[in-house]
Amino acid sequence: MNKIGDHLWTDTGWEVIKSKYAAAQAITEGSNFMIGNGFLGYRGTFAEDGKNEYAACIVTDTWDKADGKWEELSTVPNALWTDVTINGEPFAMAEDVDEFQRKIDLSQGVTSRVVRRRMSDGTQVTIQEEKFASYAKKHTVMMKYTLQTDMPAEITLRTGIDYDVWSINGDHLQGHRSFAHDGGFGVQAKTVTYGDDVVVAETCRFTAPSVELMYEEDDRIGRTYSISTTAGEPLTLEKAMTVYSSNDAANPKEECLRESRELGSYAEEKKRNKGEWAQLWDHYDVVIQNNVIDQVALRFNIYHAIIATPVHKSLPIGARGLSCQAYQGAAFWDQEIYNMPMYLYSNPEIARNILEYRHRTLDGARRKAKRLGYDGAFYAWISGKTGDELCPDFFFEDVLSGRPIRNHFNDWQIHISPDVAYAIKKYNQVTGDQQFMEEYGAEMIFEIARFLASHVVYRPMRQQYEFVRVQGPDEYHENVDNNAFTNYQALFALRAALELLDTLDKQVLDRIVAKVGLRQEEQELWRDIVDRLYVPVPDEEGIIEQFAGYHDLETIIPANKVTERLIREDEYYGYPNGVALWTQCIKQADVIQLFVLHPRLFERSIVEKNYDFYEPRTLHFSSLSPSSYAIVASQIGKVEEAYRNFRRSVMIDLLNTNEAVSGGTFIGGIHTAANGASWQMVVNGFCGLSVSDKTIHLSPKVPKAWDGYAFSIIVQGQTLRIDVTRDTLTVTNRSETPRDMRLNVYGSEVLMKGSDAVVSAVQ
Ligand code: BGC
Repeated sequence: MNKIGDHLWTDTGWEVIKSKYAAAQAITEGSNFMIGNGFLGYRGTFAEDGKNEYAACIVTDTWDKADGKWEELSTVPNALWTDVTINGEPFAMAEDVDEFQRKIDLSQGVTSRVVRRRMSDGTQVTIQEEKFASYAKKHTVMMKYTLQTDMPAEITLRTGIDYDVWSINGDHLQGHRSFAHDGGFGVQAKTVTYGDDVVVAETCRFTAPSVELMYEEDDRIGRTYSISTTAGEPLTLEKAMTVYSSNDAANPKEECLRESRELGSYAEEKKRNKGEWAQLWDHYDVVIQNNVIDQVALRFNIYHAIIATPVHKSLPIGARGLSCQAYQGAAFWDQEIYNMPMYLYSNPEIARNILEYRHRTLDGARRKAKRLGYDGAFYAWISGKTGDELCPDFFFEDVLSGRPIRNHFNDWQIHISPDVAYAIKKYNQVTGDQQFMEEYGAEMIFEIARFLASHVVYRPMRQQYEFVRVQGPDEYHENVDNNAFTNYQALFALRAALELLDTLDKQVLDRIVAKVGLRQEEQELWRDIVDRLYVPVPDEEGIIEQFAGYHDLETIIPANKVTERLIREDEYYGYPNGVALWTQCIKQADVIQLFVLHPRLFERSIVEKNYDFYEPRTLHFSSLSPSSYAIVASQIGKVEEAYRNFRRSVMIDLLNTNEAVSGGTFIGGIHTAANGASWQMVVNGFCGLSVSDKTIHLSPKVPKAWDGYAFSIIVQGQTLRIDVTRDTLTVTNRSETPRDMRLNVYGSEVLMKGSDAVVSAVQ
């Protein structure tokens, strides 16, 4: 058996299986075993579960701010809700059931449970339950529920729609109105703040001869079946739940009922969904040779990255995906830096969709800049529907005094804007999609450059430009000057803007310049900033100082010793008075993150020195951190260290290693950035893939725990298969019309001619 931790295992590399029920893990397991399709996320709970078990279906584009503080996605009524009593005794999960197994089949996005339990009168009941969120019909989730008793019994089965579901910050739906339709029931409600309509309908097929009664309570509508079972004969219930909001359709009720009506049987829809998943895995699968646990852990992460990503519209990828409402169902820099790369190289249309979202929300970024006294586009730290800032001023709480903390994630973490510019430029380099650049990309890059130019400060005595009062990726040090990551990213963005000014087709450029009202003196200012922006360079020891004054802070090595200073376990470590603030202990990769994004900016010896310097100072308290260290460790040939970080990162959700509450705020749920980064750790990390100047760079390494790995990428419209074994790298062009491609393998140029494979020894 291939065990992951104490109670999880896999047999095939495609399934995560669990054989012990633990009520205390309801939050984590509800996320790990969830199903979804980028439109909705249905938590991995059981049919009879409700609010107390954290049952919830989170739906995109339903933002609401019921509590006046946290705008978040709504959780909608649960139309798969079903419970059962056996000879008058309600069935409930318990830790001492006779048999329990739950599973998620990643190959087709199906989650299931089998439970066998003896009731107090001696009757043994077996329930089997299976669910999937359809990729073919994205508004629909389906369930098959089978019940069997080992002796004749009187069963009461209730199934319907439960309105009372888990919601973190207030009840977002109000004025529920139920209705009946041909196949079942439905309910319509409105979001509190924006008054959007949300409609949920169920359809229900139950085969057993039974007496059916309709009932309606305050927070439920449904029917009750009364059945006399015979021993061993299964009763089967098939249900579908369909959800639409007025942001999805002009008449959500009509659409919802149409989709419900057109659904095939459970088996037919399951097959259809399986076909969709086969195509998804064609794009994204990364095969690991000879390590089933790493294989399933990697696929588990890729699965979650996929289901978190809206593909039906350009909407943000939430930092917790659609696993719960934490982090407001909204995009952070995680979206471009941690999630986009997998799409960029495997399915560039989705990467384009992600960037189109940033264009659609450009006005929100403009509004934020203006509100704070800047020009151009300052993207929201937490970005939802419109791109206006969703991050509240007071994010965490000082748990010792009970006072709110004025965190400055929203106004000081400026690297988000150049990070978006970076992603646009990378998209252009990897895909060659010039049309996107001309239509959307250049406009965003100009507005970002404009923002940076309005934020940067000129220091006449030093004759240089500086970024002051910012926050780099390491969130424990707010209010710092010249954060290396921020300054280098800003320089990159400003250079990208200048390059566009110099290279865009004249007519196109004139059109964009006129559209954004770009003045000549602004362009000159950008050139001056690029020439004289201060960027921290390696000191005599080769170390790049994370920000001005970092070296003067107290050194605590290893960083986690700082934890001994906590007064309370759930204290916030950062600004303005946390235990990490006046020390060199950092929350997550910061200078190291710079090397992830710019693998050839510094000599290898510099990267090595900085890795060795910052690693013991890093707490890795953000789920974004281990993957960045894994990628950089691979760059500098520390393959086994990279592997340890890989394992740490891919197990974050599976082994529930990260805090669910910080400074009083719930931040649990699936770690979507780490999910996306799992793909990068193999492809950009171990295999060393990057693209620059139309050249594909590769420098594959294989950790001892594997015999090799294989995956496909799409670069400049060409599909390449990359196969790495302990000894050999093989690159084949699988495109319909193969073109010559320029490779660089371990620093040596190789021209890959048409369909001729490139074969090289692995070093
Ligand atoms: C990290 C940020 C990240 C955010 C959302 C925070 O804990 O420090 O870098 O963007 O979580 O994932």
